[in-house]
Amino acid sequence: MKNSNHSPSIDPISIKAVAGVQISPSPAKTSQSIPIKQIPVGPKPVNNKIHIREQKGYFQRLRTSLNSLLIAAFFLLPLIQYQGRQAVLFDLNEQQFYFFGTTLWPQDFPLLAWIFITAAFLLFFITAFLGRVWCGYLCPQTAWTFIFVWIENRIEGGHNKRRILDKSPWNRDKIIKRTSKHLLWGLIALLTGSGFIAYFVPATSVYPQIFGFTASPMLTAWVWFFAICTYINAAWMREMVCLHLCPYARFQSAMFDANTITVAYEPSRGESRGPRKRKQATELGDCVDCNLCVDVCPTGIDIRNGLQYECINCGACVDACNQTMDKFGYAPNLIGYRSENHLKGQSNKPLTSLKFLGYGIATMVMLSVICMDIYLKKDIQLNVIRDRQSLYRETLDDKIENSYTLKVRNKTQSEKHYRLSLSGDRPYSLQKNVDLKIKAGEQLTYPITVYSQANGAIDKGTPDVHQVKAGMARIVFQLRDTQDPSNQISQDSNFFTP
Ligand code: SF4
Ligand code: SF4
Repeated sequence: MKNSNHSPSIDPISIKAVAGVQISPSPAKTSQSIPIKQIPVGPKPVNNKIHIREQKGYFQRLRTSLNSLLIAAFFLLPLIQYQGRQAVLFDLNEQQFYFFGTTLWPQDFPLLAWIFITAAFLLFFITAFLGRVWCGYLCPQTAWTFIFVWIENRIEGGHNKRRILDKSPWNRDKIIKRTSKHLLWGLIALLTGSGFIAYFVPATSVYPQIFGFTASPMLTAWVWFFAICTYINAAWMREMVCLHLCPYARFQSAMFDANTITVAYEPSRGESRGPRKRKQATELGDCVDCNLCVDVCPTGIDIRNGLQYECINCGACVDACNQTMDKFGYAPNLIGYRSENHLKGQSNKPLTSLKFLGYGIATMVMLSVICMDIYLKKDIQLNVIRDRQSLYRETLDDKIENSYTLKVRNKTQSEKHYRLSLSGDRPYSLQKNVDLKIKAGEQLTYPITVYSQANGAIDKGTPDVHQVKAGMARIVFQLRDTQDPSNQISQDSNFFTP
């Protein structure tokens, strides 16, 4: 164990030594310069490919459980039926989005936009508190990459065997292993492509059509497009997506502050690092330089070099290092989830962090707006369009008539009966009662004519008659669900008279 006189050597700035670049501060300036520590880059992956070492441990169990939940939800959600139809379906043909009995129409897309914006702020809030846990534990890119790596491990063996296989010539064993691996990867990719399309085309028809080779060219093309994207992402690009394509990786550090909990190495405890035998007394720090934390890292970085944007907070290095600490009888969490404050020996106070509070408040406000919007959302949609051909017509029996077109949409998933009533500045009447029967999710266009007595002919005892005046009057159209009177909607329009 490190003795008590050991003084930690934490350099304020660490710079990775990059091949071809020499860091040679001028001797004259050395005394005034910030000390520079050159960190050797680890062994270069064969063909620049990272062979991830499989790791077990608490955080890997947590990650696997969350990834499994995510993947199960992805495949099972489209298979759930609710009220006689697919519970979650973006029906592009009908321009409707079904979600467990609620139907969203193109007019409701502001609500969807609010939901996405709120989800983004929730992600920022979680990032300000727990760093990139989304990337490590719930991002589909990570989840699918780990499935592909798991298959690779089962077929080709551990990371060292895979390295050897990479370099070995193409013999029977290599051909069988590689073919099996790619076939299985292809199958998972095809299932993923079909699973994704099942959110847009009923799942009960997608799977039989794709795997029965009876799908239309359009459906086949879309499924294969997403299958190929999955294959390229999870089989070939893997960490490249996180390092070079994902915009979130680039700006997530803007949400970090000293309270943000990320995976970090404790240099004051680990340095000076170096190998030793178990139970051997040593002046060195707790890091035995086993390199396990690098071997298990899906992005191939060495977390001992400090916080890096490549780190997806997956915790694999925490489990690996804890395994080593356990073997050597050292305290756990040389690498662990901790904040900059923890590393400085201070306590974490996220409630004093402006970013944490700001994102939290913004998320709560947006969630309230969405709840209010959903609460006030009507199951009926009514549009009243005035006849633009004539303002009014006078009838022989001393009445004024105005024509309108009602566009009524039943936004529920069951047939509804609605009754129309009129109110406003004048007494209004219809030729007959208007009862509308509208099927689930359908829109009805219904022309109507509204009558009102001519101004001079209105009975003086009529309520609100004092408001009757020539020109334009207010008219209110109200539709009420006959089975559920609380389900109603009204819209104002104008009634014109001479
Ligand atoms: S450094 Fe650790 S937490 Fe970060 S990506 Fe690598 S293994 Fe995961
Ligand atoms: S796993 Fe732990 S002990 Fe091994 S090299 Fe990494 S930090 Fe050092």
